[in-house]
Amino acid sequence: MGSGENQSPASEQNGRIIKLLYYPPHKVAENYRNATAYPLKSDLIWAVQIESNKGLNLKRCDVRLEACIFSDSMALKPLHNIWIRRQQCPCGDWKCYIKYEGDDPSTAASQSVKSDFPISSSPEVVFTPYVGQIFKSDDEAFEYYSNFARKNGFSIRKARSTESQNLGVYRRDFVCYRSGFNQPRKKANVEHPRDRKSVRCGCDAKLYLTKEIVDGVPQWYISQFSNVHNHELLEDDQVRLLPAYRKIEEADQERIRLLSKAGFPANRILKVLELEKGVQPGQLPFIEKDVRNFVRSSKKIVQENDTNLSMKGDNDLLELLEACRAAAEGDDGFAYNFTTDDNGKVENIAWTYGDSIRAFSLFGDVVTIDTSYRSITYCMILAMWFGIDNHGHPILFGCTLLQDETSKSFSWALQVFVRFMRERQPEIVITDMDPGLRDALAVEMPRSKQIIPTWQVISKVPSWFSLQLGVQYSNFKSEFDMLYHLENVEDFEHQWNNLVARFGIGSDKHISLLFSYRTSWPFCYVRNFFLARTMTSEYSKSTETFLRKILSMQSLRCFFKQVAIAAKFGSQKSELLYLPTKTCLPLEEHSRTVLTPFAFSALQHEIVLSMQYAITEMANGSYLVRHYKKMEREHLVIWIPDDEQVHCSCKEFEHSGILCRHSLRVLVVKNYFEIPVKYFLLRWRLESSLIPLDGQIITNGNDEYSQAFHSLTATLFSESFLSKERFNFVHGELTQLLEHVQNIPVSDQSKSPNIAIKS
Ligand SMILES: [Zn+2]
Ligand SMILES: [Zn+2]
Ligand SMILES: [Zn+2]
Repeated sequence: MGSGENQSPASEQNGRIIKLLYYPPHKVAENYRNATAYPLKSDLIWAVQIESNKGLNLKRCDVRLEACIFSDSMALKPLHNIWIRRQQCPCGDWKCYIKYEGDDPSTAASQSVKSDFPISSSPEVVFTPYVGQIFKSDDEAFEYYSNFARKNGFSIRKARSTESQNLGVYRRDFVCYRSGFNQPRKKANVEHPRDRKSVRCGCDAKLYLTKEIVDGVPQWYISQFSNVHNHELLEDDQVRLLPAYRKIEEADQERIRLLSKAGFPANRILKVLELEKGVQPGQLPFIEKDVRNFVRSSKKIVQENDTNLSMKGDNDLLELLEACRAAAEGDDGFAYNFTTDDNGKVENIAWTYGDSIRAFSLFGDVVTIDTSYRSITYCMILAMWFGIDNHGHPILFGCTLLQDETSKSFSWALQVFVRFMRERQPEIVITDMDPGLRDALAVEMPRSKQIIPTWQVISKVPSWFSLQLGVQYSNFKSEFDMLYHLENVEDFEHQWNNLVARFGIGSDKHISLLFSYRTSWPFCYVRNFFLARTMTSEYSKSTETFLRKILSMQSLRCFFKQVAIAAKFGSQKSELLYLPTKTCLPLEEHSRTVLTPFAFSALQHEIVLSMQYAITEMANGSYLVRHYKKMEREHLVIWIPDDEQVHCSCKEFEHSGILCRHSLRVLVVKNYFEIPVKYFLLRWRLESSLIPLDGQIITNGNDEYSQAFHSLTATLFSESFLSKERFNFVHGELTQLLEHVQNIPVSDQSKSPNIAIKS
């Protein structure tokens, strides 16, 4: 960026940009008398303070040009953006947080720290120091004595040192932590009088070192040593807590800073670290007070940089806004929106792409709003809007950065989103439990049903109940797991009450929370809603991968670019699998030509299983369908021949848009050779694909291809089973062959085999 032909006022001066200011016009005039402010496309005004040989100077400038300069300016490098998973509990209690399993970026670092830390019970022996013992340096001696002290229940400190002009420091005195007496302080510490209680009792235990030069090399020897104490020595678990042995390792410092920035108080930070490292309470190499002191001292540094840092952060956001402006000019479909506070500081920002809006018109029935990440660098919540396409891939509908998680911010996000999507609202919104979002949805999208995936609920259950229930927890958990699978609402509510009463948790706030969300998560409440196969673990895994890729970007600028890449349909590899038919049913064959491989494979599974069901015609024209082994409850299918309707009590079609095995069984018996068109939802059809497809994939040529393979492999099987030797040979060769085939790259031209097959 920053091409030479764009001469901006700032670059004309050859000055260094010191500060980027953004004020509404009247503020610029107020603060900088010699600066003229003028409104640009938005109400944002950029002014630049420039340092040049003429001194400090303020200039107004064009947003676009200055953004270019800033991109190149070393003075304002974008901040390193850090995303953290939100851990705040939806119950709203600040002291309550959720610990997610396997989601701990600091584990590796903390574990190495843990093993480095000298553990008092380790078998390593430290011999008693003796007069005349030699060390290479005074530091080495200090460390040795310190280890010895730790093993023996006390700690040491450096007392005096003596130096001369030609030798430098030639004597060092190390003493017991309780040596000497406390000096009475002139000013009593009124705030923390207890902190001032001295441990010093005049103990005479000590180790004195003297330096000498031997053959021109300095060395230190022990000139005096005493291990006689006039006080009790501490046990292992007490000595650990002496200030000298309490230490916050660097990796922990980083984590503490992060947590503190995210608003965690010292006691909770300590708790988080204990949980993360899997240590018992109180077993960390530092205590709450150390955390508090550390946070206090690092806050001082942060405060010093704070103005600078927040200015940089604001600049990055303005740059993001500028990137949106540029994108809007390059892409007709691109849309964005933002809010600013009274000082013109960006609060919320949302954007979407032409491709996303187009995708929404086809696949906007079910929308996931992911709000699980927060940027601690910019203090913003990320809300990502996803959908699922006809191939089962996640698609991005839009991206929102919000200043907080209040219902006001979410309301804004929802309004903007609906405007982006041409006033169309999704039927289903899938979210996590988030009170702010729930309230906003109720107001802004009252017709959309909120659904919470059960895995979102389950992932919070251990944090909520495992400590509280103790040994009873595993019983509770297995009963809880049965509960949310129940098919019937009455059963669910009845058993819920039983469970709550049995474990005595009726007044628990998390139980009330779960129950207040009950119409959004248990199977019996959500089974009647169309969720477009978004509840599968494959889908949640692919959205997580999708998110992680975007969140790995270190600067906001790269983040924006990555989101744009992710939003493009072409970026998603379309793996159009060739799926051979498994039955001779014409309706299977026909479905394959209509549905995408993703939807077809789901339907095919049902078709194959439908053959295991028996049907009984009832008097009123309905059918009882049951498994031949009666492994599951029977289902009632109603078939209305006049307008080719089929309804099953399992509600699978209503839920996923794929006909169930029970309905299929009835259709086959009723001589259907094709499934009625209305049971091929537009959103699962091949024709709905956002990227043009290779038409050959489902042609008959492939069937010949497949049949040729079938007969070849059938012969290979029967021949190779005739002897063990044959079998081993074929097995080995086939394994190698498969490996070889998998290494042949698949290019777009050669994706579909269109070759003559020789028999
Ligand atoms: Zn809670
Ligand atoms: Zn002592
Ligand atoms: Zn069914």
